[in-house]
Amino acid sequence: MPEPRLAEPRPDLVVVGAGVAGLTAALAAAEAGARVLVVAAERPTASASALAQGGVAAATGPDDAPELHAADTEAAGRGLCRPSAVAVLVEEVPARLAELRARGVPFDPEPGLEGGHRRRRIHHVRGADTGAAIVAVLAAAVERHPAIEVAVGERVVDLRPGEGVVTEHREVEAPAVVLATGGYAALWARSTHPAGSVGDGLLLAQRAGAALADLEFVQFHPTVLVESSILLSEALRGAGARLVDPSGERFVDELAPRDVVARAVAARGTVLLDLRPVPRERFPGLMARLEAAGHDPAHEPIPIAPAAHFSIGGIVTDLEGRTGVPGLYAAGECAATGLHGANRLASNSLAECLVFGRRAALAALEDAGRPSPSTAVPRLAGEALPPLPPPPDADLRAAVWAGAGIVRDADGLRALLDADHPLVRLVAAAALARRESRGCHVRADAPEPDPAFDRRHVVVAPDGALRVEEWR
Ligand SMILES: Cc1cc2nc3c(=O)[nH]c(=O)nc-3n(C[C@H](O)[C@H](O)[C@H](O)COP(=O)(O)OP(=O)(O)OC[C@H]3O[C@@H](n4cnc5c(N)ncnc54)[C@H](O)[C@@H]3O)c2cc1C
Repeated sequence: MPEPRLAEPRPDLVVVGAGVAGLTAALAAAEAGARVLVVAAERPTASASALAQGGVAAATGPDDAPELHAADTEAAGRGLCRPSAVAVLVEEVPARLAELRARGVPFDPEPGLEGGHRRRRIHHVRGADTGAAIVAVLAAAVERHPAIEVAVGERVVDLRPGEGVVTEHREVEAPAVVLATGGYAALWARSTHPAGSVGDGLLLAQRAGAALADLEFVQFHPTVLVESSILLSEALRGAGARLVDPSGERFVDELAPRDVVARAVAARGTVLLDLRPVPRERFPGLMARLEAAGHDPAHEPIPIAPAAHFSIGGIVTDLEGRTGVPGLYAAGECAATGLHGANRLASNSLAECLVFGRRAALAALEDAGRPSPSTAVPRLAGEALPPLPPPPDADLRAAVWAGAGIVRDADGLRALLDADHPLVRLVAAAALARRESRGCHVRADAPEPDPAFDRRHVVVAPDGALRVEEWR
């Protein structure tokens, strides 16, 4: 009898992370004939992906087109989107969505509307259960695939580009690695993310010689239930929910881009979200969670405030997920393709995971065995590497909220330059370097966009030096 394929010790590809980007990459590689090992600190259902509510943005309607989706993405991105990345996303996401349907994701029949979108193109499952439904289907497909092995509960602590990864428990040899480790929004005191979203992948990639970029751009979600991380998605506002101040007055267009709504809410502290106009049966899971948290959305408005929600910054990649370090790829929220510009358009991130997760996996297989030009700074032989920092404690997260919150200034950011966490220091340095306000990066001491930063990205070189680059 032939040996089962998984008995072979060396996978062709290691995927780090089991959110939508990692699961998509693993399936794409395995379906193209590769042996894949998925290593993840937490099980798929505990990823940020599983919490995603509103849905996947894709231009599928008769009144819609990829060009319209691109125009909305670029309008939200405030002159900083990389046009080539936007074009790839809007062209390819309808096909990725169709694949999800074919795999069995039970999307609702009619797409919804969210802030910043001019067409109904948000594809959701049971109103606001989209991430959990996609993760369940992809994780089951990964589990079933005979060429994919999954190791959960294993944190990757170092990379050996071209040779594999080091976890807390072992070394795994593999010629290629796709990082799909998610973002760093959990560095902030109020966050919608799981505690593990602290940017491990960014630090691992930087130590391996990759560049990081756009770290100053962190999106704050305007409507998160107070004293919790329960997010009340734009889909609710698209379905009629209203934002009101304590006297019951509306104060903002509920469907304006997120940064506009977040600042309007933050300026008033805690405000109320009135869910009474929303048909309850469209969001059964969310309504049940609110009731379990002690609220009665059918009868009274509920208190909400902003929280850190999405990190635009990440590991610099090309449109195929290549990082510049041979054998190292990145996709999903840990990557910086330039797609989101200065402000992510709602529901473009699951789309990003689907499109670029697949692309990164296929590029890794295509590059296998080929000498590839490296833009990485070579590591010195025998150089001692600092370990990944411990998870940030409550004091550090409070300091990040205070110094690099929704509205920042130079004094607050400077106070973070000697923080205990290396990524916090880099976020502060990048936010100081961008002396302007643009999208979700708002500086009280530089309140206007500066045309000198149009199309310009703040890039952190592997040695920590900052430079400003224009991306096409
Ligand atoms: C509450 C909420 C609602 C959202 N709603 C939407 C929405 O409606 N539409 C939309 O498009 N986007 C939404 N988003 C954003 C979207 O969910 C994320 O951007 C996306 O899911 C990120 O997926 P990912 O695969 O890149 O990373 P994640 O889903 O964050 O997965 C990261 C994986 O990496 C693993 N990992 C991390 N570090 C290590 C390490 N050192 N070693 C091993 N494994 C590691 C984690 O355990 C996890 O498995 C929402 C996010 C949240 C939090």
